[in-house]
Amino acid sequence: MSVFDDALKRINDSAKLVNEDVSFLQAPERVLMTNFPVKIKGVTKYFTGYRVQYNSLLGPTKGGIRFSPEVNIDEVKALALWMTVKNALAGIPYGGAKGGVTVDTKSLSVEELESVTRAFTRSIKDFIGKDIDVPAPDVYTTPQVMAWILDEFESIKGRHEPGLITGKPLILGGSLGRDKSTALGAYFIVKEVMGKSSVIVQGFGNAGLNIALMLYNDGYKIVGTSDSKFGVYSEAGINVNELIKHKDKTGSVKDFPLTKNVSNEELLSLPCDLLIPAAVENVITNVNASLVKAKIIVEVANGPISPEADVILNSKGVIVYPDVLCNAGGVIVSYFEWVQNNMGYYWSEKEVNDKLKIKMISNLNRMTNLSRELKCSLRESAYALAIKDLVSARKLRGK
Ligand code: NAD
Repeated sequence: MSVFDDALKRINDSAKLVNEDVSFLQAPERVLMTNFPVKIKGVTKYFTGYRVQYNSLLGPTKGGIRFSPEVNIDEVKALALWMTVKNALAGIPYGGAKGGVTVDTKSLSVEELESVTRAFTRSIKDFIGKDIDVPAPDVYTTPQVMAWILDEFESIKGRHEPGLITGKPLILGGSLGRDKSTALGAYFIVKEVMGKSSVIVQGFGNAGLNIALMLYNDGYKIVGTSDSKFGVYSEAGINVNELIKHKDKTGSVKDFPLTKNVSNEELLSLPCDLLIPAAVENVITNVNASLVKAKIIVEVANGPISPEADVILNSKGVIVYPDVLCNAGGVIVSYFEWVQNNMGYYWSEKEVNDKLKIKMISNLNRMTNLSRELKCSLRESAYALAIKDLVSARKLRGK
């Protein structure tokens, strides 16, 4: 099954639970695929980019842009469907979208990355806008990339439109708290569902590094983590502040003193109470799910567990807090950023974080209550809540 088939299966299974017709969610509303030229070291190269607007019943579509060699249309469609569910569950007035460019950013200089970003923006300029479709950062895209997209778009349109994009640098209309919001939202969930315990975090990027640091500073024991190539593990616990310095200096978590080097696959099956996948999708599958030792999984990456693995984990009694709830902090604060841009009035970091906490905890409670009522998994109840709102918006619009 493809990642998109997996995402659809989850929608359809949860729709059956609440007896709703989700035929309108079987395919995206609009898909744009672009093939655009960029001159790299004097040679013209063509890159493929995508933007998928999956569903706009609840408002302008919203979702990140990913730059990675693995980006393909199946993955972007799956991510756009997850955004539709996530935004509906979060209770923010957005539909779901996602975009990406098939590119290895590590092979490009900063100037080349800027050229690719600006060329991609030109190729999607008529597809996006603050009231149409609002992009944000995702894997291997940064506030700087958002700034280039905003600048290219505003230069073409000849007007300021900061609400076009979120995750921007502060000086260009970004929101305080946005850089750590995904991790902070997931941290609020961990604090509610699990006391001080041992934790493995897969991924040491924006989401993974920040949640590892927040939990470490709060007295949780981080026993393992990884980047794209290597993992490190220590039963005694890892000093995350020192690991960040090590990664900055050497470019990797590998060979961090007093830890053993492990592979990304091994890391997922090592002893811990709480496992936080915070890297990429489909890392826990029917091949390795039975090896997971954690009692609780908090999904920070999008789609890290396949549907087959969900069944295995469930039979082992592992409780999974789903991505559509746990990583919604990023898009919730993106929504706050967009609101501030539309008002032209900006909030303090405390205001942003307090508002985020209220939303995260209230959505956690709604999901947990419905799962008790329906006697279903947390993921199924999260999807069911989103489906109910999407169906009701569709009925009200008379579609
Ligand atoms: P990032 O690019 O900052 O970090 C990604 C991390 O994953 C890096 O440490 C990288 O080395 C590692 N990685 C890459 N490929 C890997 C692989 N094949 N196996 C293991 N590790 C690998 O990205 P991020 O923003 O931290 O996003 C991580 C996950 O969280 C993604 O699934 C993303 O969709 C999700 N997410 C991020 C945000 C956000 O605001 N940053 C919001 C919602 C969801």
